[in-house]
Amino acid sequence: MEYSTDIVVIGAGITGLTTGFYLDRDKQNFLILDNRDYPGGVIHTEKCGDFVYETGPNTGVLGTLEAVKLFEQLHGEKSLTADYALEKASTAAKKRFIVKGGKPNIMPMGVGKGISTKLFTFKDKLRVLFEPFRKRGTNPDETLAEFVKRRLGESILDYAINPFISGVYAGDPGMLVTKYAFPKLYNLEQNYGSLIGGSVKIGKVRKKEKEQNPDLKKVTRETFSAEYGLSNLAYGVYNRIGEERFILSAQKAVVAKTDDGYEVSFIKNGERSTIKCRCVVNTAGAYAFPELFPFVDDEDKKVISNLVYSGVVECALGFEKWEGSPLDGFGCLVPQKENRKILGALYMSTLFKNRAPKGGALLSIFMGGMRHLDYLDLSDTEIKKIVAEDISSIFDIKEFAPDMFKIMRHRNAIPQYQADTKQRIEAIEKIEKQFPGLIVGGNMIGGIGMADRIKQGVQLAEKAKI
Ligand SMILES: Cc1cc2nc3c(=O)[nH]c(=O)nc-3n(C[C@H](O)[C@H](O)[C@H](O)COP(=O)(O)OP(=O)(O)OC[C@H]3O[C@@H](n4cnc5c(N)ncnc54)[C@H](O)[C@@H]3O)c2cc1C
Repeated sequence: MEYSTDIVVIGAGITGLTTGFYLDRDKQNFLILDNRDYPGGVIHTEKCGDFVYETGPNTGVLGTLEAVKLFEQLHGEKSLTADYALEKASTAAKKRFIVKGGKPNIMPMGVGKGISTKLFTFKDKLRVLFEPFRKRGTNPDETLAEFVKRRLGESILDYAINPFISGVYAGDPGMLVTKYAFPKLYNLEQNYGSLIGGSVKIGKVRKKEKEQNPDLKKVTRETFSAEYGLSNLAYGVYNRIGEERFILSAQKAVVAKTDDGYEVSFIKNGERSTIKCRCVVNTAGAYAFPELFPFVDDEDKKVISNLVYSGVVECALGFEKWEGSPLDGFGCLVPQKENRKILGALYMSTLFKNRAPKGGALLSIFMGGMRHLDYLDLSDTEIKKIVAEDISSIFDIKEFAPDMFKIMRHRNAIPQYQADTKQRIEAIEKIEKQFPGLIVGGNMIGGIGMADRIKQGVQLAEKAKI
């Protein structure tokens, strides 16, 4: 088959879906291509009896205006199971736990609780008080671990930042570079000389911005999902764009440069097809780049595909009747120092409605990450054994017998923005200059969370439009 369109978006994950949503709104001519047989990319929800569980991301943060606006515009859109509806997490989400001494300890929010917590040493609590008087760092490639030790202290690295990084990046703070992985944090120190002082000043700036643009008040940083799971978010966007715009299950896609644009070829149902177009927007991960774009200079392809991704084993555990210690919060994270094998657990049935039967529980457990990439190769039996040991011990469960136990392995889960990020950004800028009409997005740049992905999706649509 031969198609012709103006813009081809590669990838129907949340980035590509957002790009499509705005191209559609602006009456552009486009197609979206993906090798999976459903929209959403790593976002995917499954149902098993009365349990509704995620196989990829579980929760997002309302952290960008673009995410808020997308959800507003989708309201009432048909999703997979009903009308699309954003679901904000229950107020319990504010309580987060860190495992210390084998049991969940509440993560202090605020000064009073910070002083009394057993998570950090007395010395480091004092160090935090003097943080505003510490000198600015001078190394732009400083890792997050070095940054936190220098400004806040070792116990804060071990019992706050280390587990937080496992929870968000499935990463290692000793490998992530603050400037690229946490640009806001880096800029606080560089611009204001202190995290505490900078946060106070930024708070004032944000307050003024909100007065000038009341829309910003909606960027609440609350935790979100969609009713009956995140797939409904993906299907809300998919249905709005219209299924005729999608070519799913497209295998072995390759892009070629032509005199007046690009030709994207792929195999579907055993048949090779091509699409001629003016512009190609990539939203696939860095690992897919060399095969998709063979005409790009080898050195640039290498810089892109060298991006390290952490691997994650995700388990969805359903209990018809929960008999462990109370799940009254967002979840618990396990610091590396604790020598346990899981990275953490999310209390999904506490956060969102309709995820488990009444009196039961749904947990999402994570293992592996940069701490243990080798866990991706464990058998199901080995994974179940680890989970049984850790979950029984953390939640005081006498007889560990979940009614549902699903295992998902993600080999290219979360990109790790390390010291080579600058080179990657430069390579992308060079490629886009060298090949007009080729736009390189995806989670290789611009942030890993869903809200950042949506923000980038909006920017990609803007760049691709005529
Ligand atoms: C296990 C896991 C848990 C996560 N948890 C959270 C969380 O709790 N909160 C949060 O905010 N974020 C979380 N994230 C991160 C977040 O989900 C992702 O950053 C985001 O969903 C990625 O969206 P994307 O569209 O950029 O990429 P993807 O979802 O990866 O979409 C890219 C699409 O491109 C397709 N593709 C790739 N190569 C080709 C090719 N050659 N031809 C055709 N199609 C191709 C892929 O199949 C995929 O469908 C998590 C990620 C994972 C993996």
